[in-house]
Amino acid sequence: MNDQLVINEVTVAYSNVTAISKASFSLAEGEIGCLLGPSGCGKTTLLRAIAGFEPVTEGNVSLHGESISNAKYTQPPEDREVGMVFQDFALFPHLSVSKNIGFGLSKIPAKQRDERINDMLELVSLANSAEKFPHELSGGQQQRVALARALAPNPQILLLDEPFSNLDAELRTQLAAEVRTLLKANKVTALMVTHDQDEAFAMADKIALLNKGAIVQIDAPYQLYHKPSSLFAADFIGKGSVINVEIDAAGLLGNDLGSLSIQTLPKDLGNTVKLLVRPDDVTYDKTSDTRLPIVSKVFLGANYLYELALTDGQCVPCLTQSHIDIPIGETLPVRFDLRHVVIFNGE
Ligand code: ATP
Repeated sequence: MNDQLVINEVTVAYSNVTAISKASFSLAEGEIGCLLGPSGCGKTTLLRAIAGFEPVTEGNVSLHGESISNAKYTQPPEDREVGMVFQDFALFPHLSVSKNIGFGLSKIPAKQRDERINDMLELVSLANSAEKFPHELSGGQQQRVALARALAPNPQILLLDEPFSNLDAELRTQLAAEVRTLLKANKVTALMVTHDQDEAFAMADKIALLNKGAIVQIDAPYQLYHKPSSLFAADFIGKGSVINVEIDAAGLLGNDLGSLSIQTLPKDLGNTVKLLVRPDDVTYDKTSDTRLPIVSKVFLGANYLYELALTDGQCVPCLTQSHIDIPIGETLPVRFDLRHVVIFNGE
């Protein structure tokens, strides 16, 4: 597959702040990427640099093989074949759905424009709302109009800036999955910014995790969740606890956690390791002799998420079916399944 977007060693600085430092990332044609990270890490700045709204101080951004931003040149946003979907949708309130979608198509003949608008209306399942105005639509429908408008000129890449954050939490992941299906079916290359990992997981083939202006890991969602390469990634992605545990040469862990297969352990481990324990690494087992006191619990509908105390006071999470309803202060019988835990050097 050819690379559609290549960001190479890109630095973006505002007057006295380096917002992005030496970021490198690429997307193949039809691939969906996501820039994920905490507030202020530089995600929006990087997206804006790709869109042409911010110049880059160093490095290069290429789209479909052509350099569109480097230290010497910034192609104006309107000349880039880039579609944008903004957080607030940015629809024109006085224009109908059709006219919103057709807004960027003024250069093509009227007949072709109408055909393209109709195709886009079909694509986002809004054919019956063509003459409505934005205020007559739900948030999710407005979002789909914004998507159709951005896709109508057939851009080389679609950039989405927190596109679901104005929608109900419940709708967000569902819509992210729907938008993914739509983009994949139409082989659209896309890059989304979000701080919400559920959205990133639902949408992306590939996630670039950012921290303090740097890309710290690029991976598929599964890898990012199960194989975080740093304590930052382990902490930011998913639920879980990072605990300090003594380990002996045979892989036996303190705190009655059991043992790890020494073949799989990283080299040069000290006597203490840091272990990322996910809720699914600790299983409820009523026949187990290991009973841990319940410190807190949260009802999640299908599940309870328990926080359990180890003998030294550190806590580990445990996900059970919500039928397992045991009061805080009592103990939960559990089994550790350490096959998938992630180990970091404790030093
Ligand atoms: P959020 O999720 O809160 O939107 P973000 O990850 O998108 O955050 P950016 O908005 O890219 O982060 O900001 C990165 C850094 O650059 C922050 O320190 C921010 O204060 C700074 N910054 C952003 N825009 C400007 C600007 N126009 N002028 C100066 N500094 C800026």
